[in-house]
Amino acid sequence: MNNRELIDLLNREHQLDAAQWTQLFATYTEEDLEYAMALARGITVQRFGRKIYFRGIVEFSNICKNDCYYCGIRCSNRKVSRYRLTEEDILKCCAEGYENGFRTFVLQGGEDGWFTDERMCSIIRVIKARYPDCAVTLSLGERSRASYQAMYDAGADRYLLRHETADAEHYAKLHPAVQTLESRMQCLNDLKEIGYQTGCGIMVGSPGQTPETLAKDMVFMQAFKPHMVGIGPFLPHQDTPFKDESAGSVQTTLFALALCRIMLPQVLLPSTTALGTAEDSGRKAGVLAGCNVIMPNLSPMEVREKYMLYDNKAGTNISAAQGIAILRRQMEEIGYEVVVGRGDFGKENRK
Ligand code: SF4
Repeated sequence: MNNRELIDLLNREHQLDAAQWTQLFATYTEEDLEYAMALARGITVQRFGRKIYFRGIVEFSNICKNDCYYCGIRCSNRKVSRYRLTEEDILKCCAEGYENGFRTFVLQGGEDGWFTDERMCSIIRVIKARYPDCAVTLSLGERSRASYQAMYDAGADRYLLRHETADAEHYAKLHPAVQTLESRMQCLNDLKEIGYQTGCGIMVGSPGQTPETLAKDMVFMQAFKPHMVGIGPFLPHQDTPFKDESAGSVQTTLFALALCRIMLPQVLLPSTTALGTAEDSGRKAGVLAGCNVIMPNLSPMEVREKYMLYDNKAGTNISAAQGIAILRRQMEEIGYEVVVGRGDFGKENRK
C-alpha cells in the first residue's frame, strides 16, 4: 500500500500495524503531509467547529528531583535559579486567567516533594471552590496511585503525563536508569483507571528516536486511547547533555499531529509552545494539522525565564495578557475562534 492509501486506511479503521506506521514515518513526502493535514483539519472542524480551547498554564515550581537528559530544569542543572509559587501566587494567576476567559487551569511543575498531597489537595480545593465552572489539569509527573486518587478526590479533572517514548531502550537513552518506562506506563494506567481525563505524548526528534520508535508510540496510543495528546518537536537546552543535538523536525511534528487526529478523532490536541518556538507560525500550523487546544502561559513574568525546559521558549518576555492577545489574533488570522469553555473530552459541540 502506498502512503496515501495507509492514511485512508487509518481514517477508516483508526489503527495501523507497526510496519505500516513505520512506513509512514520513514517515507512520507510533502504531498503525504499536506494530505494528512487536510484530512485531520476536516475531522477537527466537523467535530469541534472552528473553535480553539485555551488552557492557562501556571508553572508553579521549577524544582525537580529528576534528571531527564532533555530538560532544562533537571536537578543537575546548577545554573537554574529555583522557585516555588505560593498558593496566593497561583490563585492570582488563576484570577487573571479567569478574567481573560480561561476555564481550565493547568498546574504544571517539576517533581517537587514540597508539594505534598496535602498541599496540592488544598490548592485544588480552593481553585475549584472559587471557580466551580473551571477544570483543573495537573502536570506534576510521576506520583503514587494514592496521591493521584487524593488529588482527583479533591477535584482535579485532568492529568498530563507525556510517556516520551513507548520503546524501553529509547526511554533509557532519554532518562537515568532510576526512571523507567514501566513506571511511567503504570502511572498512566493508574490515572486513567481513577477517572482522570488523561494525556500522554512525545517529543518528535528526541535523540535516538527512529521511525520504528515513533511507530511504537502510535501503536501504544491507539490502544491506550488517551483523552489528550501532547506532541511537540524536541528542542535542545544549552545546559543539558543533549545541548549539541539537533532540534526535531517541524514537518514530522505536524505529520504526527495530523495522524494522531485521524487515529483519535475526539482527542484534545494542543498546538504546543514548542511548536510555536521552533517556528513563528508553528502554532497556526498545528491548528491547520488538526489541533484544537492552545495553552498560553499564565505564570508571573518574574519566573518565566526560570522555567526553561528548552532554549528560547516562546512567550517568555511578554505578559499573560499580551500572550493571550497575540494567540487570539493568530487564531483569527486562520479563521478560528477562541472559545470560553472547559472543553472536556467527548463533550464537543458538533456543528
Ligand atoms: S522533564 Fe519533568 S520530570 Fe524530567 S527533569 Fe524536567 S521537570 Fe523533571
